[in-house]
Amino acid sequence: MDALNSLEVEELMEQARVSAQQSYSPYSGFRVGAALRLTSGEVVTGTNVENVSYGLTICAERSALVRAVSQFGPGIRIDAVAVANLNDAASPPCGACRQMLAEFVLADAVVLFPANDGVRTMAFLELLPLAFEMKLLP
Ligand code: ZN
Repeated sequence: MDALNSLEVEELMEQARVSAQQSYSPYSGFRVGAALRLTSGEVVTGTNVENVSYGLTICAERSALVRAVSQFGPGIRIDAVAVANLNDAASPPCGACRQMLAEFVLADAVVLFPANDGVRTMAFLELLPLAFEMKLLP
């Protein structure tokens, strides 16, 4: 994909921030939102949903991904992922989310997330260069 211009970055980050306002995070107080831009041009958002059984908690990125597939089907492709939080914390996607996203991102997809020095843009493949793949033996 072409690099996002600064307006596109700001708009996608804003959609992620708006989604973070819906966060269900009574245990950590960490309010996260994600916005996935599909190759169709649609943007699908999600937020983190915690559970008293902490391990069942789902991150904003996976929440958005599940929503995107549910809404637009298994053929979706993602060219940009934005992650934001309302806690002023650096928050790149966690490893589980990177692996989940790997099945749906374009090879040149980008990820936007808050870092210590502002919004950072990284190539998805920089964040997860060796995603797990199931290679079936012949
Ligand atoms: Zn995650």
